[in-house]
Amino acid sequence: MHFDTLALRATHQPDPTTGAVIPPIYLSTTFARDEANELPADFMYTRPNNPTREALEKALAALEGGAVAMAFGSGQAATMTLFQALRPGDHVLLSADSYYGTPALLEQVFHPWGLTYTRVDMSDLDAVQQSIHENTRVVWCETPSNPMLSITDLLTVSRLAHEAGAICVCDNTWATPALQRPFDFNCDVVMHSTTKYLSGHSDVLGGALIFKHDNAFAQRVRMLQGLSGAVPSPFDCWLISRGIKTLGVRIRAQTATAQAIADFLDGHPAVEQVHYPGLANHPDRALIHQQMNAPGAMLSVQVKGEAAEALRFIGKLKLFTRATSLGGVESLIEHRASVEGPNSATPQNLLRISIGLEHAEDLIADLAQALR
Ligand SMILES: *Cc1c(COP(=O)(O)O)cnc(C)c1O
Repeated sequence: MHFDTLALRATHQPDPTTGAVIPPIYLSTTFARDEANELPADFMYTRPNNPTREALEKALAALEGGAVAMAFGSGQAATMTLFQALRPGDHVLLSADSYYGTPALLEQVFHPWGLTYTRVDMSDLDAVQQSIHENTRVVWCETPSNPMLSITDLLTVSRLAHEAGAICVCDNTWATPALQRPFDFNCDVVMHSTTKYLSGHSDVLGGALIFKHDNAFAQRVRMLQGLSGAVPSPFDCWLISRGIKTLGVRIRAQTATAQAIADFLDGHPAVEQVHYPGLANHPDRALIHQQMNAPGAMLSVQVKGEAAEALRFIGKLKLFTRATSLGGVESLIEHRASVEGPNSATPQNLLRISIGLEHAEDLIADLAQALR
């Protein structure tokens, strides 16, 4: 089945009692027992499980080709719950270029609690191998990475993880299952910030963990999800399920525009470098072909100059909204180093762009006037 069909089928759950094509949102926090004290379905209380959340989780598992999925109240809540499932003394290997919140959780929350972690350039496979220790439980990849759009070889990194008895987790937020399916490259867990492309409209916060196998580790995460309750509301789950229906067509249109914009920026006299997996000069071309079926709608551009030039450029834009986040239908641009703060390793002249659904010609005209 093609992805577009899969996304529709996975989220198409008509209500059997009323025939409603779009199922209701089950706001109820609690579920009644019958005369024999039995629950009519598997639902008892909404923290551990809710029909609207379960519908989203089944859809997420289907999209990624996993056995089970768990939805959370944010991407960070998903990441946090996965780390909570580890034990003091365990080690996590994390890519050097990643969403800044992932190492922030490790540093601020889990390091004091007893996890150790190392950050490594995941494109340097020797360094990856040397950084995996006896107590390494998780190798955490993010590809394409944030904000440099570098690509991790998932097949090789997951093999290195498995050889050491660790699991390989892939943050698939930027690619989405429409472009990249990490389980095909032997990853064990896929993480998403469903806040981004899956919901697609910048109006709901959410996260997910999808497991290739429903094993003891997955069940431990399920237990933590229900016990600690970092879960999305039924309405949030419903919005994310609705967003998934149009993911395929959105990402296709957004990718086509991103390619046109990357081509325009690449070689522009005011531009130092463009980072985009769809450019012929991307260092990981072979891997991109192997792993992704399209380059996606995120790009970063380094303008000539420093922070001042970068900020002056985005100050002149009229069609791009100056805001953090990504994956919505409106184009966003941000000075990433400002968002990440004083310890950021991101170049000061770098701007991260999330391409939306505006027409490519209008966006290019706006960029052209602002770069003039
Ligand atoms: C946004 C994002 C996160 C964090 O997700 P939230 O929903 O904001 O908590 C994690 N990873 C990546 C790649 C992201 O873009």
